Amino acid sequence: MIQDNIERVYKQIEEACKRVGRDPDDIKLIAVTKTHSAAKINEALSFGIKSFGENKIQEIEEKMPDINRQGKEFHFIGHLQSNKINKLIELEPVLIHSIEKYSTAERLNKSLLRRGLTQDVLIEVNTSGEKSKNGVDPDDLNDLIKMISELSNVHIRGLMTIGTLTDDSDEIRRCFRQLRDLFQALKAQSIDNVEMKYLSMGMSGDFEIAIEEGSNLIRLGSIIFGQRHYEK
Ligand SMILES: *Cc1c(COP(=O)(O)O)cnc(C)c1O
Repeated sequence: MIQDNIERVYKQIEEACKRVGRDPDDIKLIAVTKTHSAAKINEALSFGIKSFGENKIQEIEEKMPDINRQGKEFHFIGHLQSNKINKLIELEPVLIHSIEKYSTAERLNKSLLRRGLTQDVLIEVNTSGEKSKNGVDPDDLNDLIKMISELSNVHIRGLMTIGTLTDDSDEIRRCFRQLRDLFQALKAQSIDNVEMKYLSMGMSGDFEIAIEEGSNLIRLGSIIFGQRHYEK
């Protein structure tokens, strides 16, 4: 079933790309594996999935020893609490998608310095305007990026957003378009130590719109693995 789902998703990616004249090879797919067992994750990885993403450090810490990680990329996509930074670094994420505060970036930089490491990150932007959502307010994005760009070992590589949870595709598109506009404006500024390379947007329900609006990093969970069941 996972294999069929993955094949179907690749077709949908191709079709979305065709609609807007993009190359499917420019879209990177991250399988979001939260709540799923290492065995299920390994199954997906065996079908050619190269990147997987998780949003809870404790959960991935427990599963990681059983995941066949060889040649695969681990992405951290969840809210990062300062007291979990050291644990996360030890899991060697290729990219942290969800930096939204200077204080977190600063603490991350300190931990990296101590270990002689660097870390690629994305800045999470709140494009939906919903107070409950994570991410920096678009109006504060420029200042935040300028401050984080001064941190020697943290490298900003793009932006991430979670689209509004709604059936209104115009509203979802507005969120993604806003992030793309911010991305392009930042790219034009060419800030030192900042490279606008990744535009992380699009989940199972809205990845086709995200691709049409320029996403090059999509994060798909339920469309690959089926519905999630959360344990208490
Ligand atoms: C869970 C999650 C996803 C995947 O959601 P689906 O709707 O299952 O595809 C993507 N991004 C983030 C940040 C998530 O937490």
